[in-house]
Amino acid sequence: MTKFKRIAFIGLGQMGLPMAKHIVEAGLPVVGFDSSEKARSTAAKEGIIVAASMHEAVHEADCIITMLPNGKIVQNAILGGDAFRAASAGAVLLEMSSSSPIYTRELAQRVAPYLRVVDAPVSGGVKRAVSGTLTVMAGGDSDALNQVRPVLDCLASGVFVCGQVGAGHAMKSINNFVSGAGVIAAVEAIELGTAFGISAETIIDVLNASSGKNNATDVKMKQFVLSGTFASGFALGLMAKDIAIAAELAENLGLNLSGLQHTSTVWNEATETLGKTVDHTRIYEFLTKSSD
Ligand code: NAD
Repeated sequence: MTKFKRIAFIGLGQMGLPMAKHIVEAGLPVVGFDSSEKARSTAAKEGIIVAASMHEAVHEADCIITMLPNGKIVQNAILGGDAFRAASAGAVLLEMSSSSPIYTRELAQRVAPYLRVVDAPVSGGVKRAVSGTLTVMAGGDSDALNQVRPVLDCLASGVFVCGQVGAGHAMKSINNFVSGAGVIAAVEAIELGTAFGISAETIIDVLNASSGKNNATDVKMKQFVLSGTFASGFALGLMAKDIAIAAELAENLGLNLSGLQHTSTVWNEATETLGKTVDHTRIYEFLTKSSD
């Protein structure tokens, strides 16, 4: 098993903090950093050793984990002031944020050969970050992946190796495209069926027992939409960002995918109307109002 001298964990937010705690609990040597003082002090109270700066956190690290809002922020954090050069030569950057694969490949080229990049975004949300049962979709060369495998095993119940660097981030955006399209379909199913006089509960029950079942009908509509709680824990802006990454990737590859383009437009418009921070299930309010 890989022996780690130091694992720098950058980004101790909603996802990063429970993830860092699992790695500490596994006995691995974590030093955390977050640009927010509040996040740093919460993490320290939760038993994480916290550095006062990015440089201090990554100093002589053999693994740097990033769990930050997006790929641009990851690039700035890693390249800013040449922070990555403070790590041990040959260290692995384990990029677990949901980022654009295009940025990830660019970043991998810019930090090579000093750092090797493995992208390993996750699915499962805060709940599964807390239980240590995330799904990881990884990209990178097999040596680098093997080196950080013990870290991934602390966090995930499943690790899917998707291909070379960037493939994990591409896969995450593809997953959230399908997930976000499923939410729109479920909400519109409720709108259509109720307009014809079928109760919303009946619509969801029938879909869940039939071929129309999807993740949104199964774990979102009754729980967070029909109940009026809108408390899934996943923000609208994050969903819109992830689907926009998939749309940008399609454009970059010269693909004209009309369903993806439409899905991305709807989530972007909902975010402009409702704001980034509201729960993503509130797209129900946007969709039902915009069809009035
Ligand atoms: P969050 O906003 O709770 O946490 C991000 C943290 O990064 C914050 O504490 C912020 O202060 C810190 N930060 C920002 N810029 C920084 C910098 N330059 N240096 C150091 N720290 C910095 O977000 P989150 O919900 O934890 O999401 C993190 C990532 O995980 C995102 O890419 C998101 O898309 C992805 N993700 C989130 C969920 C979810 O359910 N919340 C699920 C899957 C994936």
